[in-house]
Amino acid sequence: MQTDLFSTGQDQEEPEKRAEALRRDLARYGHAYYVLDAPIVPDSEYDRLFAELQALEAAHPELVTPDSPTRRVGGTPLAQFEKVTHRVPMLSLQNGFSEADVAAFDRRIAEELGIGKVEYEAELKFDGLAVNLRYEKGILVQAATRGDGTNGENITENIRTIRSIPLRLLDLAPPDILEVRGEVLMFKEAFRDLNRRQRESGQKEFVNPRNAAAGSLRQLDSQITASRQLKFFAYGIGELEGVPLPETQGKMMEWFMQMGIPVCNERKVVRGLAGLMKFFGEIGAKRDTLPYEIDGVVYKVNRRSEQEALGFISRAPRFALAHKFPAQEVMTEVTGIDVQVGRTGAITPVARLKPVFVSGVTVTNATLHNEDEIRRKDIRIGDTVIVRRAGDVIPEVIASVPEKRTADVREFVMPVECPVCGSPIVRSADEAVARCSGGWINCPAQKKGGLQLFASRKAMNIEGLGEQLIDQLVDKEIISDAADLYRLDRETLSGLDRMAEKSADNLLGELDKSRQTTLARFLYALGIRHVGETTARSLAAHFGNLDDLMQANEEQLLAIDDIGPVVADSLIRFFADERNRALIGKLKACGIQWPEQTVTEKPVVSPLQNLKFVLTGTLPSLTREEAAEIIRQYGGQVVSAVSRKTDYVLAGKEPGSKLAKAQELGIRILDEDAFLRLVKHDENN
Ligand code: NAD
Repeated sequence: MQTDLFSTGQDQEEPEKRAEALRRDLARYGHAYYVLDAPIVPDSEYDRLFAELQALEAAHPELVTPDSPTRRVGGTPLAQFEKVTHRVPMLSLQNGFSEADVAAFDRRIAEELGIGKVEYEAELKFDGLAVNLRYEKGILVQAATRGDGTNGENITENIRTIRSIPLRLLDLAPPDILEVRGEVLMFKEAFRDLNRRQRESGQKEFVNPRNAAAGSLRQLDSQITASRQLKFFAYGIGELEGVPLPETQGKMMEWFMQMGIPVCNERKVVRGLAGLMKFFGEIGAKRDTLPYEIDGVVYKVNRRSEQEALGFISRAPRFALAHKFPAQEVMTEVTGIDVQVGRTGAITPVARLKPVFVSGVTVTNATLHNEDEIRRKDIRIGDTVIVRRAGDVIPEVIASVPEKRTADVREFVMPVECPVCGSPIVRSADEAVARCSGGWINCPAQKKGGLQLFASRKAMNIEGLGEQLIDQLVDKEIISDAADLYRLDRETLSGLDRMAEKSADNLLGELDKSRQTTLARFLYALGIRHVGETTARSLAAHFGNLDDLMQANEEQLLAIDDIGPVVADSLIRFFADERNRALIGKLKACGIQWPEQTVTEKPVVSPLQNLKFVLTGTLPSLTREEAAEIIRQYGGQVVSAVSRKTDYVLAGKEPGSKLAKAQELGIRILDEDAFLRLVKHDENN
């Protein structure tokens, strides 16, 4: 059994009172789940209370009442639908949660049948809704929900919208009457689509695919059901007339398939406890990759004659057991909400949770994504919430449990200052995410991300300065900003993890090389918000030098083609910040330089102006990026395909088809030397 986080002190309570309280709660939760399709608590909580009531009733049989949830199946059918009385009751399944439970089940069956190794058919336990499909002479005449097992709801019109369910069986000599039982479910992808649509149209999202399937099937308007992409898998039989029952569960499934009734392929005939556990392990391993949700597997004695010999208990067959997977959704309490600052400055609220065991691990916190998400899910500090952890996916708070809310819960308030650097937290109107305005220069939390960008290929291009090295340099407080990189020495570097003297020397060489750069690269390397590589290039081309850009006002910035108000605002803010100006000064003092031009000095006409270049092959010393940059710097254009409009093809080793095409069209071909001479010529002018 799970932790007792939420038990209401059953130790002190008398068994009679406790049983009554459990019955009352289970009935309420059952109604919400079965009838309203809107569960109040996670299944794990329901199962925990159910097991407690079962244990209490076993110890005190006098406490059992006929209406106890342990004796009943499902919930009362909804009055809106026509009632259907099942001729053969639709039951539930006994549950097992551990290998010991399965061993006890297998032992009991073997003893009662008096055989050594029992043969079972192992199937998946689909997390959907049980329905009964009635075929008369091969034609679908009625479909009904399980309801309370005896009375269900007539949902024939809705079932007809599920394309995979045959309206007429493929069998040429169909049984006079055949009732097929199975599960209607919604595949994971359809569920995600549906919730996206619900969200976009401002409607409530469904908690899980089971609810979505149940809610979709019990619609009074079958048009809505039709739009919901439901599926069906058969696994059982109700009334049958006109043909004998197949001898085994396995043969029955094959017969269904022959008649065109959908059956899931993930099933197997196995023997004894070892066979059952092996199947459980195999399915557990692929659970997350299945396109639909399952909450366990089901073991059924395979031979019909043996099933009949075992018979039924009040709410379930004795020949079957549902072996449930550990819960993926559990309840716990939010003890606080903190914010974390990411590498891009994004502020993420994180729920601190009372430790809870879910899907095999103890979870103590979970992301809440952003402020809007907290409001949408209405999660407050002190709330009881449902936490979900499926597979390796990070734990998520999926909903609060309003019914457990006490008066002293508090709403989350987004802090106004970054908890790491104290800079104001800002949120622009068009974004869900709030951000620390300190940027990587001022906010240590963003520093590593900023340094990675600074060193990256399209920025300062410092080869060998990767994520792990940056992490070490920052964590060991060897550097505090990008300028400090240029003060690193061989001794410091070779003392770091995974750094030999040779790699230290290489890095120092790279750093030295990066001192000679371009204005566009430098601007991009500063990591100014909204200033990507292309914008940096436009800014550099327009202003030609950093001082003019730093002094530019909004009007001047907006005059540039690709610059809109958001970018202009970001630039003005960035250069207005004294700390950013100081860093720029420090970087320049470290010897970082680029060819600067005042706009008026810019050559009015350059020989490369408006010339179109195509690059192909590997050049001896320049990378393609560098060559392209030189071309752009001198007013030329780089295009990808050779055409009649191409002016030059700059070709290196192994040039490929572009060179051939250029030769064919008679376009001028340059090697690197010739290209550099062309540029020099331009410079000398
Ligand atoms: P169940 O869902 O545990 O098992 C019986 C059902 O399993 C069948 O009716 C059928 O629909 C389904 N099933 C799936 N695959 C099957 C297969 N291969 N063969 C046979 N049946 C298969 O039992 P139940 O009585 O429907 O519901 C009890 C469970 O529902 C609880 O254990 C709990 O997890 C959940 N529940 C939750 C709440 C809540 O408030 N969250 C309330 C009530 C019930």
